[in-house]
Parts: sequence; C-alpha cells; structure tokens
Amino acid sequence: MRNEVVTSAELLVAKQRMLRVDLRGRGIRDRLTLQAMAQVPRERFVLEEMQHEAYADNAMAIGSGQTISQPYMVALMTEALELAGSERVLEIGTGSGYQTAVLAEIVREVVTIERIPELSSRAADVLRSLGYANVTVLVGDGTLGHPPASPYDRILVTAGAERVPPALLEQLADGGLLAMPVGGADCQRLHVVRRKDDRYLTTGLTACRFVPLIGEQGWGDDEL
Ligand code: SAM
Repeated sequence: MRNEVVTSAELLVAKQRMLRVDLRGRGIRDRLTLQAMAQVPRERFVLEEMQHEAYADNAMAIGSGQTISQPYMVALMTEALELAGSERVLEIGTGSGYQTAVLAEIVREVVTIERIPELSSRAADVLRSLGYANVTVLVGDGTLGHPPASPYDRILVTAGAERVPPALLEQLADGGLLAMPVGGADCQRLHVVRRKDDRYLTTGLTACRFVPLIGEQGWGDDEL
C-alpha cells in the first residue's frame, strides 16, 4: 500500500487479513476478542504517516520512544484475561490507547494509566473522539496501580519488568486475572496470574518483547 493516502477500502481489506491470518490463523479463538478487534479502527491510534501500515502484524513507533503493540500480542493478552463483559479492568501503559479501546469494546469499565503525559493526552483525545465513555485515562506511575478504584477484576500491564509490582497484586480482586510481560529488559515471558484468596498462581504463556515498565515498583530510569 502507498504511504500518503490510504483509502477506507484498503484499510478494510488489511483489517480482514489481520483477523484471518494474524489472529485466527495463529490460534486466537475468543469471540469477544475477535469482535472487538474487528470493531476498533487501529489506523486512528498510529502516527498519521504510518496509517497505511496500521494492520501489519508488528509493533510500531508512536512517539516518545514508545510503541503500539503488535495486533497478535494485543489479541493474545486480551484473550488471556478470559473476559465475559461485566469486568472492571486496570490497564498499565496506555501508549496509543489501542489496547484500551479493545478492552473498552468488551468490558464494563477500563481505568488506564500512562506515565508519559503527551501519550496519555493523545490517547485520551482519540478514545473520546471514538466515543468510549467507559474509559478513565490517568497520568502517573502505573506500578503503584490506582487504589481508589480497586479492586479490579482484571489487570493488564503492557510494559515489562522483572517481577509483577506487589501493589498490582494487592489491587487484583479475588478470583481475578493479571497479565504482564515478566523478565529482563530485552526479553520477557507473558505471565498470567490468577488470584485465589491470598495465593497467586502463575502461568507462563509465551516469549515476548515489551518496552520497560519504569517506576517505583518497576525498572529505575538509571537501570536501563
Ligand atoms: N498498549 C499500548 C498500545 O496499545 O498502544 C502499548 C503500550 S507500550 C508497549 C507501553 C507503555 O507503557 C508506554 O507508553 C510506556 O510509556 C508505558 N509505561 C511504562 N512504564 C509505565 C508506568 N510505570 N506507568 C504507566 N505507564 C508506563
């Protein structure tokens, strides 16, 4: 596809290919995840000059040294949360707001936190313009979560750290699920943690590569 002008017909073809090849073709089966990703216009969340690549299956720069995650990884993380629709979800790492929109299509309420104000404000504008009224966009250190609205039925962290921040484990509801990349700065494993009373059962899903989770209970700025 050309760089400059991409037509809505071209975007539709690219989105259908993403759903068929990159998501269903790679094993994504959850109906709500697939429906949400069919619904959300990813081209609205990428940089304008990258709109022709909006449905390619790779992460992409969104400014401030950050990235919008690869569609397959967005789908895998969303599916891993085993959503039914009634949940309240805390997301750490708003980035472009794309993953936020996918969650907001499915669940009752999303609280999303981003540490970089410029990204947060751009994501909030796009989410508002698309009519997502069930999203609260906050700026801050997401490693500390957002206690006033806790507990959360689900927590999704879209940046990696060496361990799951204890503050997030505390704010997860009993029976809830948390998904997060855990490991070194360059390579992590997608962990899914299920809370049962005060026990936390962890499953490792797949290798992944995310930008660092920087904050009080994540990486220090000086460690990277
Ligand atoms: N899910 C996003 C999307 O769909 O565009 C991509 C998120 S990007 C891979 C990770 C984001 O986490 C970055 O925007 C980064 O600034 C943010 N981040 C890193 N540490 C954070 C923290 N402690 N609190 C909140 N956001 C953080």
